[in-house]
Amino acid sequence: MSVEEILKLMDSPTEEDKELIRKAYNFAETAHQSQKRYSGEPYFVHAFETAKILAELGLGTISISAGLLHDILEDAGVKPETIEKEFGKEILFLVEGVTKLGKLRYHGAERHIESLRKLFVAMSQDLRVLIIKLSDRLHNMRTLQYVPKEKQKRIASETLEIYAPLAYRLGIRKLNRELEDLSFSYVYPKEYEETKNLLKQKKKEDLEHLEKFSKSIKKGLAKSEITNITTDYRVKNLYSLFQKLKRKDNDIEKIYDILALRVIVPEVEDCYKVLGAIHAIWRPLPGRIKDYIAFPKPNGYHGLHTTVFTGDGNIVEIQIRTQEMHHDAEYGIASHFAYKKNTLGKKSGYVGNMAWFKQFLPSFIFGEPIKDSPANATTVYGASGKGVPNWVKDLAQFEKSDNPDQIEFIDNLKTDFFSNRIFIFTPKGDVIDLPIDSSPIDFAYAIHSDIGNHMTGAKVNGKMASFDQKLQNGDIVEIITKESAHPNIKWLEFAKTTMAKKHIKGAVEGKK
Ligand code: MN
Repeated sequence: MSVEEILKLMDSPTEEDKELIRKAYNFAETAHQSQKRYSGEPYFVHAFETAKILAELGLGTISISAGLLHDILEDAGVKPETIEKEFGKEILFLVEGVTKLGKLRYHGAERHIESLRKLFVAMSQDLRVLIIKLSDRLHNMRTLQYVPKEKQKRIASETLEIYAPLAYRLGIRKLNRELEDLSFSYVYPKEYEETKNLLKQKKKEDLEHLEKFSKSIKKGLAKSEITNITTDYRVKNLYSLFQKLKRKDNDIEKIYDILALRVIVPEVEDCYKVLGAIHAIWRPLPGRIKDYIAFPKPNGYHGLHTTVFTGDGNIVEIQIRTQEMHHDAEYGIASHFAYKKNTLGKKSGYVGNMAWFKQFLPSFIFGEPIKDSPANATTVYGASGKGVPNWVKDLAQFEKSDNPDQIEFIDNLKTDFFSNRIFIFTPKGDVIDLPIDSSPIDFAYAIHSDIGNHMTGAKVNGKMASFDQKLQNGDIVEIITKESAHPNIKWLEFAKTTMAKKHIKGAVEGKK
């Protein structure tokens, strides 16, 4: 373990960058000195590995340093003032953000999963916080076997339901796949083994066909004078194969993309040339030609997909993309926070489009944006600061689309989540999602009707609050109850949710 391993992964860091990372490395190593992980390794190994994952994703000096320091507030008792003094406001902001996210807990309530995912994004404020948290989680998943058994399943479920989908929506497939497959074995051990065996058999058969077909493709394309290509293949990751099997009556013969052939070309227009040339030789399966260049997936994925009959009784999926699209498909949003390179808009005809999170941009959710943060500085991601957020403007564009992925996405946007919902915490960190302007009364009834019916007081962020106080996003609310207390007809004025109103009416009428 040495700081050089991290520096080596970076794209030509300056002396200043190296100095900052060395300083963060030494600081974190000292801060965690007396601590050990469940594995028995020094705690600092975790900070180091998290920073390494960030460097591999191509993130910059600030994020890597924050990765090294991400647990020192919570686990090593270092004061925020010390971090600010030693490393500046921006790094402190990132470390505090990661610490805050760590306090959110997942309890597997189906109906809250989507809210929780949105909350993670909203709480992050800066997407770098989320990427650091994802890297932290990846290392925790890689070492989950050392964690006490009773904790493993909760952590793995949380990863599968919250973190892996977030990595997917941010377009970071590299993290998404590993998070999924690592959790899969803990959450569904039996299905994991079954899927693994199934894939093993199928992969062997398919690989032979694919290698043969890959040669035919190269020959075929050469006839059309397309020679500047490379081919490659990818194997579907276990968890997404498992998900697909469920949708296809567990019939592996109905899945054509367990192995997919990839053709990488220099320019966007070459993608279409290659597609044309392939279709001229091999007959495509109807309904499986996807133009994700003209209509990218909501997570920003670009490329052309087609599935063809190979002529010898086999069916193969082909994915055509440029090197740039290929890189973005693995690294997604992370590539936009890269140290120097900014792949976005470099070439014509291809602009990243990670629409899902545009709606979570901090400037219109949480007031003042943080200065000097790429998430705010880059207009590509939306929030122009004032007025109509870009994602609202983009809706007009989306509505012209007839791509099912995007239609579903529009419906999602139309629910206009953050404009009318707030997230409130119980003192234990559970999240309750309520309509805007809700009061402690609504919160109490959302937890349980008994809590509402016997409420005598409420504390908001540790201070006593009135029953009509309007709750704010992120408030921590504690309800004080007494067996002899009962609802008052006046409460109806303060209640916002139908559920609270119904219970108050019921309780008041019941007393008469
Ligand atoms: Mn950590």
